[in-house]
Amino acid sequence: MTASLFGPDEFAAVAVGRPVRGEFTYSIPAELKPKLAPGLRVKVPFGRSTILGFYLGPAPAPSDAVRKKLKPITATLEAEPALTPDVVELCRFAAQHYRYPLGEVLRATLPPGLTKAQEEKQSRAEVVHFAIAEDGADPSTLTRAPAQQAALSYLLAVGGRANVDEVAHAIPGAREHLRALVKKGLVRIDTQALVHGVVEGMGSARPAKLTDEQASVGAELEVLLDAGGFAPVLLQGVTGSGKTEVYLRIVERALSAGHGALILVPEIALTPQLVGRFRSRFGPSVAVLHSALTDTERLRAWQRLRRGDVKVVVGVRSAIWAPVADLRVIVVDEEHDPSFKQDEKLRYQARDLAVMRARQAKCLVVLGSATPSLETLENARKGRYRHLKLTRRVDDRPMPALHLVDLRLERPKTVETRDTEPPLLSEPLKQAMRETLEKGQQIILFLNRRGHATFLTCEVCGQNLKCSECDVCLTYYRASGRVQCNYCGRAHPLPKGCPECDGPLLQLGVGTERIEAEVAEAFPQARLGRLDRDAVTTNERLTDLLSSFARRELDVLVGTQMVAKGHDFPGVTLVAVVLADTALSLPDFRAAERPFHLLTQVAGRAGRGADAGRVIVQAYNPDALPIAAMLKNDFEGFSDAELARRRSLQWPPTSRMASIRFESDNAELCARTAQQLAAVAARAMPPSSHGVRLLGPAPAPISRIKGKTRWQLVVKGPTHAAIAGPLDAIERALDEVSSTVKVIIDVDPGAML
Ligand code: ADP
Ligand code: ZN
Repeated sequence: MTASLFGPDEFAAVAVGRPVRGEFTYSIPAELKPKLAPGLRVKVPFGRSTILGFYLGPAPAPSDAVRKKLKPITATLEAEPALTPDVVELCRFAAQHYRYPLGEVLRATLPPGLTKAQEEKQSRAEVVHFAIAEDGADPSTLTRAPAQQAALSYLLAVGGRANVDEVAHAIPGAREHLRALVKKGLVRIDTQALVHGVVEGMGSARPAKLTDEQASVGAELEVLLDAGGFAPVLLQGVTGSGKTEVYLRIVERALSAGHGALILVPEIALTPQLVGRFRSRFGPSVAVLHSALTDTERLRAWQRLRRGDVKVVVGVRSAIWAPVADLRVIVVDEEHDPSFKQDEKLRYQARDLAVMRARQAKCLVVLGSATPSLETLENARKGRYRHLKLTRRVDDRPMPALHLVDLRLERPKTVETRDTEPPLLSEPLKQAMRETLEKGQQIILFLNRRGHATFLTCEVCGQNLKCSECDVCLTYYRASGRVQCNYCGRAHPLPKGCPECDGPLLQLGVGTERIEAEVAEAFPQARLGRLDRDAVTTNERLTDLLSSFARRELDVLVGTQMVAKGHDFPGVTLVAVVLADTALSLPDFRAAERPFHLLTQVAGRAGRGADAGRVIVQAYNPDALPIAAMLKNDFEGFSDAELARRRSLQWPPTSRMASIRFESDNAELCARTAQQLAAVAARAMPPSSHGVRLLGPAPAPISRIKGKTRWQLVVKGPTHAAIAGPLDAIERALDEVSSTVKVIIDVDPGAML
């Protein structure tokens, strides 16, 4: 074959589904040429095998020498690409920005059913089965059938109607339980063919009237939506201001004009109410994407979207890759939430990608939060994003009143026992709890630590009891009588004494298990539930607990940040932060921002119904910035102070940063590799540094996890372009690194631990 046989677009740029960097060039057999479109899955020869690849577009003509060695694309795997063109572009951006092999990025975005080099199976006729709770169906009549009870509770929690597939992944085995519920006359199943757009006559609880603020924010968004084009917006709305209704209306408008919408939420299992609101407004035209879906379910949701049968997606961070056709609006709810950052493999930040995708799709993107991240706030202040605000709660409900209990003043009054800490329910808190319970109202107690005692200290030698595999203190669980590492899960019975000197162990640092016990003792008549990752290990139990609290079958809910999420429990009039000081002193540049967000979010759970709410914050150090600002409800003051601090230390968002982590079983090799790559990075620093700085290498703040030694190197500078040089050099040097050292490049890291 001679070169003259090839025309200008006879070459294909292909990403291969292997962990190799870069794009590859293949030749295109004449019969495949008309079939190719960007994103199309193809089969290509690679090494000695034939593997999955993605056609990206035409490649520039290679040199004659290379041309002779080119291999042709073997086959196409589908008629239409599984990925929309804007998602292909998003993947190219992500591969470059997060320094991850493009083929792996493309593969990571696809449902597992499409990641092998096989042809797509045609799916069955598109019908959806809906489970609908009959009027008056009451889970409390099902105490003898707890699984059926959980299924019915879930159904009621999401508005009395849900796709059977969706119930089935929230609750394992739910299909069978739903069948039993149908037999009992508590549920009926409705089968519908899928249709485009909004389903008519779907029961949707829309408020009769928007608040003035909702109406004016909504009007601005409509103008942006109708105008088309890239329009990033920060919607900053206090807790309970009705942000969700604003999202619903703008999505509805896009949908009624035949366009698509994408809504990202932090965690679906924790917020069944939110999904329920989208579901009840849009019916079967909503696809719900989250991590608990089976492969088949994910594939089917994907295919429905790709064909345009479904135009709205509500999903967790991975839904950023969903092939929504004709995308017109993206919403990121609780945009500050750390769960939008993926902390393994492709370490992307879905909120940032949402803005990038909106730029590529030329559409509206709304980032909503009561406490925007400093990144987003900085973008809004610099005029890059439009900044819209909802300053008042719906129906002019008051914001909850905030009270401080200064534990330094309270503690001496309590009786000290030698081997544990004094009680953490202070007198003022107990008094408030008593009043609330007497009125038949509900209470949330928040403490961001699990277990009974969060560390054990030897009274004689002062050593903390640590995990043998991790550089982490062990947590004591009294219910099981065991100590456990919350990083690797390793657990064993509580030792009788200090492993070093046999001295007695003091139980210090209070966790949720301990608070639960204190509440049970002080208020034996109160119906009590605990929400944390120890007490609630399955989605089924989670839904059950949240829905029984919503039905007011529980009076008090004790829990970790799981209680802080966007729950809307109108019966809650008292929220207490049991110990606000936890997590203030983490060695992380976000150590002030996270607690401020969390405290504000949890306070926002109070007083969302007809009765006014109050919040009690207990702290030893109430003058710490996040606590003091939260007590004054002072988002602006907090952000100004924190941004100034970040600027002076050159931390994001006033700089750009990447962390490079080294992990190995071999401590010495780990340190040596970190030092070698740091030297490589140092040689690649821009001339006269241009504000680019290397920090480290040094042992990571948690210097060992699961027996592996961890080192860290940080590169920061004014822009991503400025830090590209050192990062490129590190990437090139990776081939030389021993396979026993894992090197992880994390661009825009969420935390530095
Ligand atoms: P946010 O997400 O801002 O915390 P939500 O969207 O959850 O607030 O709204 C708080 C509550 O107010 C919800 O129960 C919601 O149904 C209700 N709500 C929202 N908008 C209105 C309105 N215009 N009129 C009456 N109730 C509303
Ligand atoms: Zn451990």
